[in-house]
Amino acid sequence: MRASRFFISTLKEAPSDAEIVSHQLMMRAGMIKRLGSGIYTYMPMGLRVIRKVEAIVREEMNRAAGIELLMPLVQPAELWQETGRWDKMGAELLRLKDRHGREFAFQPTSEEVITDVVRSEIKSYRQLPLNFYHIQTKFRDERRPRFGLMRGREFTMKDAYSFDRDAAGMQASYQVMFDAYTRIFNRFGLQFRAVAADNGAIGGSGSHEFHVIASTGEDALVYCPDSDYAANMEAAEAVAPAAPRAAAGAALVKTATPDATKCEQVAAQLGLPLSRTVKTLALTVDLEADGKTTQQHFMLLLRGDHELNEIKAGKVAGLANHRFSTEAEILDVYGCVPGYLGPIGTKAAVTVVADRSVANMADFVCGANDAGFHYTGANWGRDVAEPALVADLRNVVEGDASPDGKGVLAIERGIEVGHVFQLGTAYSESMKATFLDENGKPAPLQMGCYGIGITRILGAAIEQNFDDKGIIWPTALAPFELVLCPMGMDRSEMVKQATEQLYADAQAAGIDVIVDDRGQRPGAMFADWELIGVPHRVVIGERGLKEGNLEYQGRRDTEASAVPLAEIIAFVQ
Ligand code: ATP
Ligand code: MG
Ligand code: MG
Ligand code: MG
Repeated sequence: MRASRFFISTLKEAPSDAEIVSHQLMMRAGMIKRLGSGIYTYMPMGLRVIRKVEAIVREEMNRAAGIELLMPLVQPAELWQETGRWDKMGAELLRLKDRHGREFAFQPTSEEVITDVVRSEIKSYRQLPLNFYHIQTKFRDERRPRFGLMRGREFTMKDAYSFDRDAAGMQASYQVMFDAYTRIFNRFGLQFRAVAADNGAIGGSGSHEFHVIASTGEDALVYCPDSDYAANMEAAEAVAPAAPRAAAGAALVKTATPDATKCEQVAAQLGLPLSRTVKTLALTVDLEADGKTTQQHFMLLLRGDHELNEIKAGKVAGLANHRFSTEAEILDVYGCVPGYLGPIGTKAAVTVVADRSVANMADFVCGANDAGFHYTGANWGRDVAEPALVADLRNVVEGDASPDGKGVLAIERGIEVGHVFQLGTAYSESMKATFLDENGKPAPLQMGCYGIGITRILGAAIEQNFDDKGIIWPTALAPFELVLCPMGMDRSEMVKQATEQLYADAQAAGIDVIVDDRGQRPGAMFADWELIGVPHRVVIGERGLKEGNLEYQGRRDTEASAVPLAEIIAFVQ
């Protein structure tokens, strides 16, 4: 590729609505362009990365005996009614009508359509197992699209669906997909963790999420460094025993309120020591309802794995600027920000007693405000004597013993980039998708489904790999692997020839190379490629050439080094 014939459009500043670094850098590097809320044009530079993600996913899906097809974007409502999801999906499902008034869904996922394909195609157990997949556009009318490609409304997903004759077969197909996902995320060059996404009640989890590890991730992951226990927060909390936690104490927090003794009374009442401290953040939110705006004050309890400053600078800052229309919407956000959000009346009276950090998380904060005494937790603002208070102690925190008895738990944050799921016969039963077993009897197909957020991968990769100059792509995902930066190509025949030779050699060696022949000044040229995040840069200048050298700098290197002309290709590979 020659830069003069490609489309490069970089910005010095990110638009103000870009809240997190990946969104900012993708906008600045000209990878995406916003068309509407959660809807983006994938610009040429961004599309190259998307295609690399897709190619790796496709190769590994094919290797794992996945069979590619392509199912329609627009799907008849009747299919969605068969499974009951036409109603269940609520506002997230985008619905359309054709000219005859017939209803359709714009697919958010494709279980219904694939089950429809399979119920008419599969007759006998001899045709099984099967695993169909496609890489296709999705639409989900997310309540709060944000963070660029991370939570878009229109996005690309790889979704696969396995069909087996029995539960053991389904579990085997699931394991094949689990292993394929592990290979895929390793090939991306990203740090990731697979976590159980349900409580594993029947021994072994029927669902796992794959998360790219990043401090800005929306999800809290609970894992044990001394064993292979790993679960998302919801799954971990579902199995956390309430009573032992209460017995272990350290679950009540005192805040500096006008009535701090009340906290002590509550502690005594519940038999809990007042030993834990917590960071809280009071925020004021404009609530818009019925055309009226009222200001409400909320208190955010920070989960133990987050630093106050980080939250202030990032998500909560964004939250404070966000205009909510219902209180439910704020509570919805509670699932997205790392903490609890509780109304504390009309006056923010809560302050932080102590500022111990990371290892602590509050299950409760006792606070007082002008409306009287409140505590927070899952049951906001109720009386402290509620038995629910004890039930709420089922919070998993860093340092808890683990469920497998092999060590203490640690918490880190992740971005959900993949999800594998054992569905069993839920869809095949509601849609009557059966096959004839060895005895000639009809039986429902055993199904699994497996998603990867193709476009979300870009955001997740950047959240994990950037510096103050821009993106640092892992080589496997980079839009180009190598950029050649000639110094004065138009003035120096020597530079021109060396550049053309190197360009040809790199292509012949299978390197994805771009030569920057735009005639820009070195500073501007280097800044562009550092922002775009190309892993290898070679500068070709007359002075170096006279000594038989080129100047090489890896994207993570702090300075350039001289590399002999003859060795440069091997050096880059
Ligand atoms: P989330 O919890 O982030 O809303 P999900 O659990 O609803 O995701 P799944 O139904 O499991 O998503 O879909 C499979 C994958 O699709 C997810 O693991 C994620 O990588 C991706 N994905 C889901 N929603 C979006 C979105 N709005 N924008 C981009 N990618 C998404
Ligand atoms: Mg979702
Ligand atoms: Mg999810
Ligand atoms: Mg999911």
